[in-house]
Amino acid sequence: MSTEEKKGMLDWYFKTNLLMRILIGLIAGCVIGIILGYGDAATTKGFIDNTRFLGDIFIRLLKMIVVPVILFSLIGGAASIAPSRLGRVGLKIVGFYLATSALSVALGLIFANLFQPGSSMNIAASAAIKGKVAESPPLATVFLNIIPTNPAESLAKGDVLPIIFFGILFGIAISFLKDSKDSTVAKGAEALYEIVNAAAETMYKIVRGIMEYAPIGVFFLIAIVFAQQGPRALGPLLNVTLTCYVAFVVLVIIGYGGLLTAFRLGFMTWLRGSSDALITAFVTRSSSGTLPITMRCSEENLGVPRSIGSFTLPLGATVNMNGTAIYLGVCAMFIGYATGHPLTMDQQWIVVTTATLAAIGTAGVPGAGAIMLLMVLESIGMKVEAGSAIAAAYAMILGIDALLDMGRTCLNVGGDIACTAIVAKTEGEIDMTKWNGSAA
Ligand code: ASP
Repeated sequence: MSTEEKKGMLDWYFKTNLLMRILIGLIAGCVIGIILGYGDAATTKGFIDNTRFLGDIFIRLLKMIVVPVILFSLIGGAASIAPSRLGRVGLKIVGFYLATSALSVALGLIFANLFQPGSSMNIAASAAIKGKVAESPPLATVFLNIIPTNPAESLAKGDVLPIIFFGILFGIAISFLKDSKDSTVAKGAEALYEIVNAAAETMYKIVRGIMEYAPIGVFFLIAIVFAQQGPRALGPLLNVTLTCYVAFVVLVIIGYGGLLTAFRLGFMTWLRGSSDALITAFVTRSSSGTLPITMRCSEENLGVPRSIGSFTLPLGATVNMNGTAIYLGVCAMFIGYATGHPLTMDQQWIVVTTATLAAIGTAGVPGAGAIMLLMVLESIGMKVEAGSAIAAAYAMILGIDALLDMGRTCLNVGGDIACTAIVAKTEGEIDMTKWNGSAA
């Protein structure tokens, strides 16, 4: 058979939109799983035993890429902040970004405690899937352990917090060295910066490749869940989506609305002025892809000067992910409930820290948050291991990830615009004529 013919054979797969394929994989997996669930036990067991590896391949591929993605994108992100801009505006914007991200995770956790998505399931109780939840260490130890004693060991073990800590320091150091008076050092740092960014791009390329397998992986992972759980699994998925979206809306109205009002900026003006960017973010599911529109909206519609927006908005598209932060909180809680191990208060505090950091490390591309969820889970001792209950619950989230990604990306971009407008206002550099009628 010629290569031409082979290519042609798979065209129907590769040429169909990825989102559509994942959705088809999800729905087909639900349907086949439910049918199997009603069939005789021996057939169901045979299906599960023989096909489980097809889902596990997907989980392993994702786990393979998580450490390199975090490391390179964090170093690149931290290195991109020029020391000269690390002044007042820099501190202010980083403060707002951090505060809104932490607030977002907390909101996600509050609503997840209220709605308890996944609590009606008990995946760990299923015969063919074993639950595996490790005890999480005390909070003080977690904070101390953020500082690695040996970064290479942290990398090898996949300990995410120390990797983040080291990555940020590494990036900031590069950023300072790029400005060094010694031209050899400056040139070397610039080269290192380029290499790190190229490595990050390479990792995203691999992620895109892995996502081509997502429809198949999702199909088998979901089919197994439904074969064991039956239609009972549908409710929890709706619940998790609802929980995320309620938290999204509350963050926009109370969080952003409250902040803007506190700084005497009108909420409706912000909403109207940002709408092009918000809609683009919703459909593209990429903050980075939306950046040109985000910048245009803040400058033309909201009167933010380019000197501020050109620095804070690209930074925000890389590090400020409020929607993702909510999603990480809600999904960690969902997986806890679904596997019969609801998160303890200590674990929830750890999630606030890790999810805030994870949101910072999330790239502004579709689906990046789902990879970060793996590290949040690891931080509370919930390892996503092939064949485990946690992997099955994680797969359920992956199945609806696109739906959650639309909302969270929209918030990610909205948060960047709101924080930027506030910083510009506090610097006295915003064109208030754009806000007339709604500002004091
Ligand atoms: N898609 C999101 C963004 O671009 C990131 C994520 O997956 O959470 O902002």
